[in-house]
Amino acid sequence: MKRVLVTGGAGFIGSHLCERLVNDGHDVICLDNYYTGSKENVWHLIGKPNFEIVRHDVTQPYWAEVDEIYNLACPASPIHYQHDPIQTTKTAIFGIYHLMGLARRTHCKILHASTSEVYGDPAIHPQPESYWGNVNPIGIRSCYDEGKRCAETLAMDYHRLHGVRSKIIRIFNTYGPKMQAYDGRVITNFVVSALKGEDITIYGDGKQTRSFQYVDDLIEGMIRVMATEDDFTGPINLGNPGEFSMLELAELVLELTGSKSKLVFMPLPQDDPRQRKPDITLAKQKLGWEPKVPLREGLQKVIDYFKDRF
Ligand code: NAD
Ligand code: UDP
Repeated sequence: MKRVLVTGGAGFIGSHLCERLVNDGHDVICLDNYYTGSKENVWHLIGKPNFEIVRHDVTQPYWAEVDEIYNLACPASPIHYQHDPIQTTKTAIFGIYHLMGLARRTHCKILHASTSEVYGDPAIHPQPESYWGNVNPIGIRSCYDEGKRCAETLAMDYHRLHGVRSKIIRIFNTYGPKMQAYDGRVITNFVVSALKGEDITIYGDGKQTRSFQYVDDLIEGMIRVMATEDDFTGPINLGNPGEFSMLELAELVLELTGSKSKLVFMPLPQDDPRQRKPDITLAKQKLGWEPKVPLREGLQKVIDYFKDRF
């Protein structure tokens, strides 16, 4: 049994991770300031002897004796991270800075949740970890993209200078139950609109692509990365290489929901990447991992989850 700190533990991915770790018998501290997460996501875990929940903001130091840290604290959807971009940058950078200090003092492992956004609007397709990215440093997505890039820098420098056992994962678009209905992300927007019979909003021409990973696949990948040897830092891509245009996604959502919603076209947001697809060669070799849940199957689970709510 390990003592594990999950920052952002009451968020979408964090709550799935807490559930997995608690079920595996670990002693879990779920730390969150509820900026975008909610206690409801971990309600079912409260009261278990190996689960505790702490209200705290990672922009401030936090101390606890732990064996492993998963640093997930950061708003992830564009409308959330653009709502208060200065807070987003502070969360990304001060968050990892304080947690690196904790990892250095307790000699624990620390896995940092980075993102495919570090590749920006990529000029290489699919994106391997060796690609340095094409990121606008002053745009409306920069608070998130550059915050996450700087966090990777700190994770590597603490590793090189102080021997911290840092591990960086680059998560590609992930979806599943417990996403927030109104987080503005494409899966939730399409599913909720289809279920309510409202128009489905396609930004731009809808030909831009994304790769969608079901949350259970990601959690398995994260656990495997944490279990790698001490000097394995990554970065390592965790994503599903299946690539879909937003038009294809919309058609699939309409088919699975049986909805009669219409597609309406709206302007493409600034700096919206044209394409994104992970190269997961490293994850396959290093972790023996690859995603198992196809989009059709994962989407059905999300539709079932939201059906009860709308
Ligand atoms: P989420 O918004 O549901 O979860 C983030 C959690 O962090 C929330 O519970 C929020 O309240 C908490 N938080 C935010 N700022 C905080 C702060 N200053 N102090 C403490 N807690 C704070 O998002 P998610 O989709 O679960 O993303 C989790 C992590 O994974 C994020 O770091 C995100 O950047 C990364 N990621 C997610 C995706 C994805 O597709 N969901 C893709 C790439 C990377
Ligand atoms: N998108 C869309 N309609 C929506 C929401 C998003 O067409 O209602 C598009 C968005 O412009 C982007 C893609 O879907 O090209 C994925 O957007 P999301 O915000 O989910 O993720 P990210 O852009 O961060 O990968």
